Amino acid sequence: MSCPIDCSKVRFAVAAVREAAQLVRRVQKEMAVDALAKDDKSPVTVADFAAQALIGKRLAEAFPEMGFVGEESSEALRTDEGSKTLEQIVKFVRECIPEATADDVCTWIDRGAGEPTDNFWTLDPVDGTKGFLRGDQYAVALAYIREGVVRVGALGCPELVDGVQPKKGGAGSLLVARRTNGTFVCSLNDEQAEWQPLSVSECDAVAEARLLRSVEKAHTNMGGIGALAEALGVTADPVPMDSQAKYSVLAAGGGDVNLRLLSPSRLDYREKIWDQAAGSIVVEEAGGRVSDLDGKPLDFSHGRTLATNRGVLATNGRLHDAVLAGLKQIGA
Ligand code: AMP
Ligand code: MG
Repeated sequence: MSCPIDCSKVRFAVAAVREAAQLVRRVQKEMAVDALAKDDKSPVTVADFAAQALIGKRLAEAFPEMGFVGEESSEALRTDEGSKTLEQIVKFVRECIPEATADDVCTWIDRGAGEPTDNFWTLDPVDGTKGFLRGDQYAVALAYIREGVVRVGALGCPELVDGVQPKKGGAGSLLVARRTNGTFVCSLNDEQAEWQPLSVSECDAVAEARLLRSVEKAHTNMGGIGALAEALGVTADPVPMDSQAKYSVLAAGGGDVNLRLLSPSRLDYREKIWDQAAGSIVVEEAGGRVSDLDGKPLDFSHGRTLATNRGVLATNGRLHDAVLAGLKQIGA
């Protein structure tokens, strides 16, 4: 079934994220065997570059006049050490674009190397690389931004069903949101499946909030999350999950609060736009609220990072002010 939002950018985002997420999943299946044991990061490298090349090429065809900002650049692939990896990437990209050459692939990747403009797309080809390597959650995240505001976002979550239920090797979930048009979810595998609208939870008792956090301790402040939970009277343990899959779970009502506190060792860290753009609109259009830790709206008009925002707080909306007050109380 086609998506209920009638818009060329939404149709593009749905098709591009579906195609890229399925490619990433095939890379994982074919390459990841034993990779973890050997501490071999190559599957995620190949998946990252192949997905950015594919979406870079699709964007060049569909919206040649618009900017593109992706996480990766082909520089390392053009060296002698990178040549084997590039060969693998080309092999996978050819599954979707049979005529692709190594040069084409580098050119498509590098379409994403520029600075944001007034009118551009941003991509995290594999968000949650650690999760991808562990066989846990990861996401392909694509968003369209105009004048510093996210207008369309799509998340491909291969290890989630219905946008909320972790299921390894399941059909996966594809979410899409457009400003003022809502958030919808569909099976990632089955293009004919129905699209369902998503809504955040109705939890309004902060002590009962289900908190979501990063798995990687270096990406957040575990002590701060503990102190916040105590200040708010939350007794349930926070749920650890990699990637923007957390935003999908929040949008689908499977969690109430997603915390991105600043790591004490990286207080100057500023979020990358591709780590937050698609996830934030998916939550907002499902009825939730997204701000930084000071309650300021996320501002996507400052280059490749959210330079004027500190961390991120995403909630079902009802709990937002209470959590902001808690953050202030603990000095986060
Ligand atoms: P998550 O899976 O939620 O931990 O988020 C993964 C993303 O965190 C990656 O895509 C990185 O870009 C980003 N990241 C890397 N270092 C940090 C850091 N010090 N603080 C917050 N996020 C980070
Ligand atoms: Mg990322």
